[in-house]
Amino acid sequence: MFRIADLHCDVLMKMLQDEKTAFSGGGAGELDVTRERLSAGGVDLQVFAIYISGEMPMEPESALREAERFWTGVLSAPGMRLIRRGADLEEAAARGETAAILSLEGVDSLRGQWWALRLLHTLGLRLLGITWNHSNWACDGAMEPRGGGLTKAGRQLVAECEKMGILLDVSHLSERGFWDLAELARRPFFASHSNARALRNHPRNLTDEQIRALVAVDGLVGITFVPWFLTEREPAAIDDVLRHVEHVCELGGERHLAFGSDFDGIDRHVDGLSHPGEYPRLAEALLARYPESLASGFLGGNARRFLGAYLP
Ligand SMILES: [Zn+2]
Repeated sequence: MFRIADLHCDVLMKMLQDEKTAFSGGGAGELDVTRERLSAGGVDLQVFAIYISGEMPMEPESALREAERFWTGVLSAPGMRLIRRGADLEEAAARGETAAILSLEGVDSLRGQWWALRLLHTLGLRLLGITWNHSNWACDGAMEPRGGGLTKAGRQLVAECEKMGILLDVSHLSERGFWDLAELARRPFFASHSNARALRNHPRNLTDEQIRALVAVDGLVGITFVPWFLTEREPAAIDDVLRHVEHVCELGGERHLAFGSDFDGIDRHVDGLSHPGEYPRLAEALLARYPESLASGFLGGNARRFLGAYLP
């Protein structure tokens, strides 16, 4: 079985919205991502995003409450291991543990307060996307018509993250924000859950130029299973995922390709790919088209190499 890495899910948000949901041990009902499904699918590295939905106050407290769910609800499950350093990944693999990485999707709730960023870092935050779809104090998001780039505070945020060893995630950034960050960044950055705009013209997807830039900085492109970022004609199929994989490969991204499912952040799914337990179906489809060494890179090897090399 392949060792799968997944760069994005929103299970923490769902766990905060409904405290009865359980990541582990049944009663999961409404969750896509559970401990049992990660095991069943062979996922041994999962990124857990803190995402504050519109119903919650945009305050540091909301981000900290999701971090609390991560510690109390996720890390407490059997065989989960928090990843703070690149070397932790090898240790987790050696012990057969599932690597759990904490990320933040949009800094809106931090309200520019550096203490909140430092506290989240202390709680394990290692990946950070500056925006969700809208604008905030640091940058504009991909769906903000104004299309602005990094603010002065956003530039400071990039520097603070790089100092702390937090890697920057460009999914959801405006194009201008992407290029501002590319110019400013001294460390490799990545896109956790975005597809190719050449195949599906959507502001959340990456242009060929952006994909080439991610390859050039030794970053990652995390292909996502959001149906409407894959194709205009739903339901989306695993073949649609493969078309985006092939496109990133054509742009030289074979060693930079990964997956970021967005499970628990979506209400419609790719046919046959509706939770982590179904990853083996994608693996099978990839194996029908690519050599095993490439398929295993896409499914986890590339992400593990990137995180192993660039986490502190
Ligand atoms: Zn997202």
